[in-house]
Amino acid sequence: MTIRHNARVTSPTPHPNFPSPQHFPVVIVGAGPAGLTVGNILRAASVDCLVLEVETREFIEHRPRAGVIEEWAVRGLEQRGLAGNLLERAELHTQCEFRVGRQRHRFSYTELTGHHHFVYPQPLLVTDLVREYTDVRGGEIRFGVRDVRLHGLDTDRPSVSYVDPETGQREWVHCDFVAGCDGARGVTRTVLPPERARIARHDYGIGWLALLAEAPPSSDCVAFGIHPNGFAGHMPRSPEVTRYYLECPPGDDPENWSHERVWAELQERLGAADRPPLTEGRLIEKRVLDMHNYVVEPMVFGRLFLAGDAAHLTAPIAAKGMNLALHDAFLLGDGLVAHLTKGDARGLEGYSAACLGRVWDYQEFSQWLSDVYHGASSGDAYRAGTTLARLRRLFESPAAAAAFAEQYLGNSTTVQPETP
Ligand SMILES: Cc1cc2nc3c(=O)[nH]c(=O)nc-3n(C[C@H](O)[C@H](O)[C@H](O)COP(=O)(O)OP(=O)(O)OC[C@H]3O[C@@H](n4cnc5c(N)ncnc54)[C@H](O)[C@@H]3O)c2cc1C
Repeated sequence: MTIRHNARVTSPTPHPNFPSPQHFPVVIVGAGPAGLTVGNILRAASVDCLVLEVETREFIEHRPRAGVIEEWAVRGLEQRGLAGNLLERAELHTQCEFRVGRQRHRFSYTELTGHHHFVYPQPLLVTDLVREYTDVRGGEIRFGVRDVRLHGLDTDRPSVSYVDPETGQREWVHCDFVAGCDGARGVTRTVLPPERARIARHDYGIGWLALLAEAPPSSDCVAFGIHPNGFAGHMPRSPEVTRYYLECPPGDDPENWSHERVWAELQERLGAADRPPLTEGRLIEKRVLDMHNYVVEPMVFGRLFLAGDAAHLTAPIAAKGMNLALHDAFLLGDGLVAHLTKGDARGLEGYSAACLGRVWDYQEFSQWLSDVYHGASSGDAYRAGTTLARLRRLFESPAAAAAFAEQYLGNSTTVQPETP
């Protein structure tokens, strides 16, 4: 077996102006759920790797984002020894609720399928993954790096360079593979030549005001408010913190949303005749997300493999982005280990197609769900009518309910399309 965990090659006589290059089999750009999961899989197989991250450890361990993790993704983390805290501390969700015209409609997906969602805030997962990677599996991360650049991706000797935040010097790292896990605003996607990758985009033309409130959940499950004023979402995160969403114009200024306005709209859009008003609290996060998606095909260019939001963005409409990032990371981590330790390239060769099956499945579901959430507030009587028809079908047809539950939980089988 070729275990390359001591493969850092250092030039014996470094020039003082050109710091010594190093070699790692894999350089991972970005320490989000995707990059850290790939790193942990590599280290578990004693494959050496380096993670480069622009932010500090403190910052990434506190950045609030996702919460809903699908059961298959948790099992994937568990199989790789990465779900210890999650399994102890996550809450299990078995149903969700649609609120329309002050009426509540419960949807018990666990009753239908036997499966549930886990709710575990993303900062806790990232904290667990960083700790396991660095403290337990001996992986290396360089935080606060600047101006990451990729070189020679189309050759079998790629390299990555970055500016060291302390010395201000550009450092070079040679590698065999680069994992581009630097999210939606990273650099790795930008190096793909247009003739080698197709980027499909979709803009919903709406915004969501994403809020975190220091308030206990006001319902025991996720609640979706379908209202002529706009969509509203209630997502329990912990006994003390609840995530809320309010549909708003794209590009809206969060400062247009005072504490009073936020709570008045949430009470209105999520109000139910048989429930007390929502429990209000201090707003600890308030930002506007413009709802748009993209998919890069194929997710590979030479020795660069994209994973997670770097390769595809799914607006948080269906809470799918982190789940897709984990799916990519499992396949990429396993593929790299097979290649680097056994010379088996099949996982890497099939990587892009295997990821894109699930990616497009989730994209389609997000688009479907967006019509349900936003039809009533579109100002278009026709769309409002079809939204209500979809909801009625969901509540009245067992076949429609089963299909929805399967997609909501991410349990549908995935078709693997041809990459262009
Ligand atoms: C409000 C909100 C709620 C969400 N809710 C859910 C949910 O409930 N369920 C779900 O599945 N998904 C959800 N998502 C989506 C989820 O957060 C993302 O899909 C997930 O973070 C993607 O993980 P990633 O590792 O691909 O990217 P990221 O988490 O973005 O990680 C990328 C990392 O790369 C770093 N980086 C960026 N540029 C560079 C560079 N040039 N060099 C080096 N490092 C760089 C970044 O600092 C970051 O640490 C939500 C997103 C938002 C915004």
